[in-house]
Amino acid sequence: CGIIGIVGKQPVADRLIESLKRLEYRGYDSAGIAGVVDGKVQRRRAQGKIKALEAVLADEPLNAATGIGHTRWATHGAPNVKNAHPHAAGRVTLVHNGIIENFAELKAELIAAGRVFESDTDTEVIAQLIDAELATGLAPLEAFKATLDRLTGAYALAVLIEGEENLILGARRGSPLVVGEGQGEMFLGSDALAVGPFTNRVIYLDEGDYVALDHDSHRIFDVSGTPVTRPVRVVPTSA
Ligand code: GLU
Repeated sequence: CGIIGIVGKQPVADRLIESLKRLEYRGYDSAGIAGVVDGKVQRRRAQGKIKALEAVLADEPLNAATGIGHTRWATHGAPNVKNAHPHAAGRVTLVHNGIIENFAELKAELIAAGRVFESDTDTEVIAQLIDAELATGLAPLEAFKATLDRLTGAYALAVLIEGEENLILGARRGSPLVVGEGQGEMFLGSDALAVGPFTNRVIYLDEGDYVALDHDSHRIFDVSGTPVTRPVRVVPTSA
């Protein structure tokens, strides 16, 4: 239901939580974050309120400088920890807002190819598909685009890839997603409020756009894969 992503240089866990609190107004049944720690992606998830996720983090801190966060409003799969985002498959960890309408056929195909699922969500097929495309030798951006082309339904996505410490991929179709421009840091959010604590320079992605973020830059592509420029808007600061 809500998304935040930060490609940062400072620890991001506290800021991911701060942003998720700003998104609480949208409603949710569980929450989670993931971040890159020593080249590996780690997740922390909890059913219920963000306070429950904070309790998990108090026990097991997440010391990452690049990370993603999510509040879930379950559409496919019960609201429990197993189905809470971020979802992971192989090198890929991601959060998703929306509904993948062809997930059942994609899941059947992936299971037939030997892939093992750990959740009941529609979302997990996206992680599995990107990982399968990476396994064929595609670069992250190509694997992401190949996957987007197979999805029907609605999505806003923020994606981490193991071995790519300075990268978050994002995409939107049918669900909103914004890029926030920081100083040596980049942000992704499901709305301007999500990135509001960190920057007031916001780019609203167009329908079908996808984006690659690193510390210093963003590269936006339209649905056909053509690099595009979208206007930066300076929004009232909400920090
Ligand atoms: N369809 C996904 C799920 O049920 C995402 C729901 C959401 O937008 O929070 O996990």
